[in-house]
Amino acid sequence: MTALIPALHTTPDKTALRFGGRELTYAELADAAGALAGKIGAVSDGRVGRVAVWATATMETSVAVVAALLAGVPVVPINPKVGERELAHIVSDSAPSLVLAEPGTELPDALAALPRTDVTLDGEAGALPGEPDGEAPAVIVYTSGTTGPPKGVVLPRRAISTTLDALEDAWQWTEDDVLVHALPLFHVHGLILGILGPLRRGGTVHHLGRFSTEAVARELAGDGTMMFGVPTMYHRIATEVAGDAELANALRGARLLVSGSAALPVHDHERITAATGQQVVERYGMSETLMNTSVRADGERKPGSVGVPLRGVEVRLVDEAGDPISGGDRETVGEIQVRGENLFAEYLNRPDATREAFADGWFKTGDMATRDADGYIRIVGRKATDIIKSGGYKIGAGEIENALLEHPGVAEVAVTGEPDDDLGERIVAWVVPGETTPTEQQLADHVARLLTPHKRPRVVRFLKSLPRNDMGKVMKRALDA
Ligand code: ATP
Ligand code: MG
Repeated sequence: MTALIPALHTTPDKTALRFGGRELTYAELADAAGALAGKIGAVSDGRVGRVAVWATATMETSVAVVAALLAGVPVVPINPKVGERELAHIVSDSAPSLVLAEPGTELPDALAALPRTDVTLDGEAGALPGEPDGEAPAVIVYTSGTTGPPKGVVLPRRAISTTLDALEDAWQWTEDDVLVHALPLFHVHGLILGILGPLRRGGTVHHLGRFSTEAVARELAGDGTMMFGVPTMYHRIATEVAGDAELANALRGARLLVSGSAALPVHDHERITAATGQQVVERYGMSETLMNTSVRADGERKPGSVGVPLRGVEVRLVDEAGDPISGGDRETVGEIQVRGENLFAEYLNRPDATREAFADGWFKTGDMATRDADGYIRIVGRKATDIIKSGGYKIGAGEIENALLEHPGVAEVAVTGEPDDDLGERIVAWVVPGETTPTEQQLADHVARLLTPHKRPRVVRFLKSLPRNDMGKVMKRALDA
């Protein structure tokens, strides 16, 4: 197995990380992480230890993760805003033998009870240790908990290198790219793609710490070449660039704007294109599979589509009986199943859940989609929460959400189904009002006109905001009448 981050050895003078006016070259990163790896190794010596990282959006988190990778000890990134109960679950489930945190951080009890090593940005490494083989567990990430309690996903080094190299191909990602990074560091998106991605390429991560359209625009107008974001960020960008030519111009020169973690509303995509000329590239992935599909940097962009399978990833759609759909027309919806070297090893301590997640070696994503004649995948929603069975039809929530977002009276929306005596399920729209508050009838007519009458919401409920998790994903199970 070659090194996960070759640039630590090959381009010592290049900038690896940047944050708030500080920079670390690859040599400095190798030193800081190498020194920390020595301490981790000393603690976990002889045991299959795991190390928890208090994953603040700082350079220290990147150093800590690289150190654990160098030490060959699986790393569990922890959301610093995590609640007590969830933290207790993660700590007892993953049983870390050491916690890494910035000096001075006060840790909650469940972590404060563990041995601790402070992460600093300086250090003197000896020779870097040899890296373990590809099947060794590298990172354990907990899923977003959108559909149930978070599960620990064990990611081997092989899955990480495979996915990052497939993205190199799809996005023409090079060592010259400077990633503008404003994502949290305890999920796949911000950590594996956002930190390890640029480092594996030998490029630069420019950390913003927190998102603002203004900061993103400033860096993209400077030497930033690409940005990774979640749809809530692109929603803010779409809204803020609409009336601000300077902001819009700053985004115009970016090489690549990438969206993922949840569906990017077509309306926001189109508003960004109208203001900046940029077409956002959407990619689709999950903790268990890392990245599955993406629109290619050199490919046609189709708003509402997550593109085509990445190199080395097999994607199939299956019907309700579990049979592959072949030659279906572009309206045929099936569950996405994937196979490839990008897949996780197992759910931690959950052999049953791991077994149930697979069908004949294919991972069952639980996401429903169609595929067009060019092979582009369009996600219609999650099987568990987004497919509404109403009046004999199976209706995807995403299509209705996209239609509702085109109405000026709708700023944000989530569509769900609830039991109905006549229809089986009725369509409910949870709406955060926009410029004006529309009536239920106006929204029903709007959808009936754009889509078909049976897709109109039967009930509209107005809210001040939608329940979202830290990735901005709508927690539909928290929407209750
Ligand atoms: P849990 O598994 O705990 O319910 P989660 O599935 O939200 O949480 P993640 O692994 O972080 O946890 O997210 C993966 C899911 O995010 C995918 O299964 C898919 O539903 C959704 N997703 C990711 N990218 C996209 C995208 N571009 N478009 C639509 N959905 C996406
Ligand atoms: Mg999931």
